[in-house]
Amino acid sequence: EGQATAAIVVQALHSVADLLRGKEEELGRLDAIAGDGDHGRGMTRGSAAAVEAAYDAVGQGVGPAAVLVAAGDAWAAKAGGTSGVLWGAALRSFGDLLPDHRAATANDLAAGASAALAAVQRIGRAELGDKTLVDALEPFVAELRSAVESGASGTEAWQRAAKAATKAAEDTAELRPRTGRARPLAERSVGNPDPGAMSLAFALNRIGDMLVG
Ligand code: ADP
Ligand code: MG
Ligand code: MG
Repeated sequence: EGQATAAIVVQALHSVADLLRGKEEELGRLDAIAGDGDHGRGMTRGSAAAVEAAYDAVGQGVGPAAVLVAAGDAWAAKAGGTSGVLWGAALRSFGDLLPDHRAATANDLAAGASAALAAVQRIGRAELGDKTLVDALEPFVAELRSAVESGASGTEAWQRAAKAATKAAEDTAELRPRTGRARPLAERSVGNPDPGAMSLAFALNRIGDMLVG
């Protein structure tokens, strides 16, 4: 059962990497408005490295937690930049909450997502409203938890939560960055969404679509 979950994890990383490759220019342009323009490149590099590491780990027969640890470490090492470090930590923490010897339940997904948010905030210290990927991740986790508590399946809950993340990421356009590289050029950023929040929402939706099959 753990092997089945590990295979889904690899498939999810693979589809996220494919998606991000297609969004590289768009994310780069968005990051160039008030940041340094490398977000698309970083996400492409990080996710590609994560996929490679995940395949290697699955080949060694390990469970989903170890696959995500390997993927997270590779992502952080190869992406460069703040978002790479945060994505790496998020994947590791999510993986820690996935069971190795039974199929993951909707509750496991909610616990994993909560752990990922906690790790991102422990490392990055961003609060809601600072115009970072936390502004998409926090509503994702909240909606995932509430959907799971109301009895939704893991797939259904993930899809609902991914929609909430998209709305929240788009809504960051109104915000002024209060942390990260975009802060000095905060005024230029107003009217455009945060690149890290947008890429996260893209990835979460892609995983939701993949879970439906
Ligand atoms: P860098 O800013 O180092 O060039 P990227 O361009 O890859 O890294 O990522 C920028 C994104 O990282 C921002 O759009 C924001 O979403 C996210 N980010 C930056 N600082 C933080 C933080 N302290 N906490 C959470 N997310 C952050
Ligand atoms: Mg950047
Ligand atoms: Mg950079």
